[in-house]
Amino acid sequence: MKPFLKLIPWYQAYKRDLPWRQTNDPYLIWLSEVILQQTRVEQGLPYYLKFSNRYPTVKQLAKANDDEVMKLWQGLGYYNRAKNMLGTARAVVALHKGIFPNTYEQLLTLKGIGPYTAAAIASFAFNEAQAVVDGNVNRVLARYFGIEEPINSHAGKTLFAQLANDVLNKKDPASHNQAMMELGAMVCKPTNPICHDCVLQQTCVAFTSGTVNQYPVKLKKQPPKVRHLHYLVVNHARHTYVKQRKNERIWHNLYEPPCIETSAEADVWSDPNAKQIATNHSQVTAAFSCKHQLTHQTIYATFWVIKVKRGYEFPLAGYEKIAITELHTLAVHRLFDKFLQMYTLHW
Ligand code: SF4
Repeated sequence: MKPFLKLIPWYQAYKRDLPWRQTNDPYLIWLSEVILQQTRVEQGLPYYLKFSNRYPTVKQLAKANDDEVMKLWQGLGYYNRAKNMLGTARAVVALHKGIFPNTYEQLLTLKGIGPYTAAAIASFAFNEAQAVVDGNVNRVLARYFGIEEPINSHAGKTLFAQLANDVLNKKDPASHNQAMMELGAMVCKPTNPICHDCVLQQTCVAFTSGTVNQYPVKLKKQPPKVRHLHYLVVNHARHTYVKQRKNERIWHNLYEPPCIETSAEADVWSDPNAKQIATNHSQVTAAFSCKHQLTHQTIYATFWVIKVKRGYEFPLAGYEKIAITELHTLAVHRLFDKFLQMYTLHW
């Protein structure tokens, strides 16, 4: 489509200089895409540099120790991504001898690689004519064509994928895809788009009809679930008790102290596990409360620090005793890390 031909020259003149744009190594492109999902470029960049330095090839990542990878990922959130990333790296080594498949269709056969990532790798690394469709691209298309179909509806997903392929520059899909994503990130931004600097302005439906703020249309999401979590942090002669979360939907494989979930009104100390952990001879020396927002959950957390006497026997199975000074060596979730950062000086 003619107006979209202006995108590549614009991109070449104004693109941000980012390390994953200077390579056509499918592994590094994949790594950057995994890190940048649901993450801003400024936040993801140091993680990309850390991972690409520590594991310069997919074979090295596949051989990595799980805990080390989780530790390196710490702070980036959405920890399942790190777990899935390792799984995919190992599958590339096991099934393809460490060489990434070089077509969209073959990339899709790898567990953990969906249409978006497959299109990104196929176009950026192998210049295959596959349109990348992410939030930035959807927003540009919704505004440019004035699309009323919600971007997150089933019909919307099909429609936007079709439109993205219709406008794709088949001669240089790699640059075109990069340019669409860059335009969405830097010009056609979610709020306050810079229409006066946009190469698509003259033929953009939303701009010419003064309706930019009405697009993209989205179906309303369910409000996040509210949870009340109590963490019992035992101080036993400067040691504490933590457990690695297993088979959990969030924070999989990360360490945390005993956790008790209650309703908003309930008193944690009426819980049988809490009563067992904080015996008559222990003393609650501090409580630290905070709110933590995840995509689908709002967590109100309280960390109770419980000082116990020598001879104390921790009552629950499956926990490891660890010196408080060694806690920093474990991969912990963001919420526990928040507590540790606040509390380090007060143990
Ligand atoms: S003119 Fe404005 S609304 Fe239209 S594509 Fe460009 S930045 Fe987006």
